[in-house]
Amino acid sequence: MGPAPMFFLVLSLFHLVIQCSAGAIQIDGTCDSGRQRLIDLALGDVQRYARAASGAVDPNNKWYKAWFGGPSSPSMRDSDILNLFNTLWVTTNYPFDGLPFTVTIRCDGDDNPASVCGTRTTKAQVIYQTHTIFLCDIFWREPTRFLINLAPPSIYKPPESLDHFVTYGQLLLHELFHIMDPYIRDKKGGQAYGHEYTLRYALESANGARQNADNYAFFASAAYWASRGYRNWSTNPNCLTCRDELR
Ligand SMILES: [Zn+2]
Repeated sequence: MGPAPMFFLVLSLFHLVIQCSAGAIQIDGTCDSGRQRLIDLALGDVQRYARAASGAVDPNNKWYKAWFGGPSSPSMRDSDILNLFNTLWVTTNYPFDGLPFTVTIRCDGDDNPASVCGTRTTKAQVIYQTHTIFLCDIFWREPTRFLINLAPPSIYKPPESLDHFVTYGQLLLHELFHIMDPYIRDKKGGQAYGHEYTLRYALESANGARQNADNYAFFASAAYWASRGYRNWSTNPNCLTCRDELR
């Protein structure tokens, strides 16, 4: 084989590897067409959050420090965190083709005996081994919020809790972090969900915060709004409605 065919063989093998390693997110037929549309819109928001968060992964960034601290021997390095966010928005051909596998979103969690949907508080369940996200019935009782129909509060008013700005996209972003890295869980033995408790957790344990899915979700939310010019969120878990500069 001459050098030219050899080159093309190597090139096509390389192409094959790229094709095999590319992932996607598929919405299963167990989600009816209305829910498929909502998930689709939410996945657009996932990309908006991830893009803004990626631009704020910086040890000197105010939001990054507040939600991930600066541990001397980090459980997740800054570069790992950056890669995870980039995986969700940097694409070559199709949305989410940076994922190393295909993620399936299903809507039949409440009918599936293998799922823990049906408990009073579970919005979604992730099966890491099969890269499946089950959206539970409770997920659909969350406010139907998308970034497109959410206006940030006036910068002239006192800050509000970011909990009032949680979108379907932010909820999916949380679940996708569980899928992308099995070490990113929900804090054991105590809740670390929401604006206040994710900030508190980062103060308590920066390494714990780096392995807590909601820290990623709330950092991404703050970074998204900051990228839109709204920087009025508190980073003080003791007062979410206080302006940071007044502390
Ligand atoms: Zn979780």
